[in-house]
Amino acid sequence: MTTVATDFETIIGLEVHVHLTTASKMFCGCSADYAGAEPNTHVCPVCLGMPGTLPVINERAIEYIVMAGLALNCEIAEYSKFDRKNYPYPDLMKGYQISQYDLPICRNGWLDVEVNGERRRVRIQRVHMEEDTAKLIHRQDPVTGERYSLIDVNRSGVPLVEIVSYPDIRSPAEAREYLVKLRQILRYIGVSRANMEEGDFRCDANISLRPRGTDVLGPKVEVKNMNSFRAVFEALSFEERRQAEVLSSGGAVVQETRGWDDERKVTVPQRTKEEASDYRYFPEPDLPPLRLSREWVERIRQRLPELPDAKRERFRTFGLSEYEAGLLSEDRARADYFERLMAALEGEPSRRAKVAANWMLGEVARWLNEREAEMEAFPVPAERLAELAMLVERGTITGQVAKKVFDEMTATGEAASAIVERAGLAQISAADELRGLVRKVIEANPKAVADYRAGKEAAVKFLIGQVMRETRGRANPQLVHELLTEELQ
Ligand SMILES: [Zn+2]
Repeated sequence: MTTVATDFETIIGLEVHVHLTTASKMFCGCSADYAGAEPNTHVCPVCLGMPGTLPVINERAIEYIVMAGLALNCEIAEYSKFDRKNYPYPDLMKGYQISQYDLPICRNGWLDVEVNGERRRVRIQRVHMEEDTAKLIHRQDPVTGERYSLIDVNRSGVPLVEIVSYPDIRSPAEAREYLVKLRQILRYIGVSRANMEEGDFRCDANISLRPRGTDVLGPKVEVKNMNSFRAVFEALSFEERRQAEVLSSGGAVVQETRGWDDERKVTVPQRTKEEASDYRYFPEPDLPPLRLSREWVERIRQRLPELPDAKRERFRTFGLSEYEAGLLSEDRARADYFERLMAALEGEPSRRAKVAANWMLGEVARWLNEREAEMEAFPVPAERLAELAMLVERGTITGQVAKKVFDEMTATGEAASAIVERAGLAQISAADELRGLVRKVIEANPKAVADYRAGKEAAVKFLIGQVMRETRGRANPQLVHELLTEELQ
């Protein structure tokens, strides 16, 4: 039997387009933040492509692409330029797109991905700057059946960065991991929201198969129209199977562009890809070339935040597990909160890290999950949560009570100590205060007592639970255990 895994090797390269979150568009002063705006309200003669207008380069966009290039380990060109790409489609009215051809701003980078514990390096060929196109909305008249298209120019001219990988990716899972890491890095450095569902982050893939053990590149299929990481994974998995079937039945894979049909879970042929020469690139005559001084690039490098991999490694040095460090460094807001929380605690660094990690991955994660919220939405400042954590650390309240106080804090914003005092939640650690209660519980539960005496250790847990219930979780569980054992002897 022929299978992808044994007979063929999968070769994947990805092209990712990312919107930069600059205030204005790439070549005009229109606001680039058009989400939710009425169609055609973020427009001017430049982004409408009117004759006689002149584009002006958005310096912030150049700064952002350099940040992205540095974060992706690229070389930053000293000299770069813009080119015109002939573009005969209605979503760019001026008939061309300003892009970059032979002298991109960034090239020769890499990104490490890890799948099933194996780390592999994916080389990045280039990262270049261009402008986005307008958006076409296709409609059909419900009465006459006539088809027509509407055009929304708000998106036209928004700064767009294209990140092109070498065909170094070897499986759909690796492709997904590459995208996850890429998005994570772009969000960390704050240059893009990188939301695939909202079109800030779009991915096209090239995929081909070759007999295992050879190093020729076969005809590749370009897959488009994938709107989520899941869709990329499914589309590439489908394409991998489809090409393996064609090849193993003696056929040849046709070089073509195929679109992913997310409902039918298949790829279908689309218009064939133009050769690069069809675009007839030539240097953009309306824009000066870019000269990027080494000093300027160095200043940007200095300002780059610590990146996720480095942060995860640093968190590991606090004694956290790979898993904990990975989750806590996943997004920057969570990592920053964790570090503020840890700094506000008292005690040995490893203990502070453990306590902070437990709160972050326990109650804070639960609170966010229940609301499907991001870290930014969490209402309690790290210093306030630290106060609560320290009440548990010092034995003022039990862990069980702390969860109630946590819920109260997130709802009212009140300080932990104030809640504890007002509601009388302090832990009962006085043996004389608890002994009477312990005796009462023993009297009220003869069955459990008999079980315990018959050697069932679990029965003592039940009895502890009863005491905790009587005290609304305030009893020191360790002390209750001691007292119970004593009284049961
Ligand atoms: Zn404009």
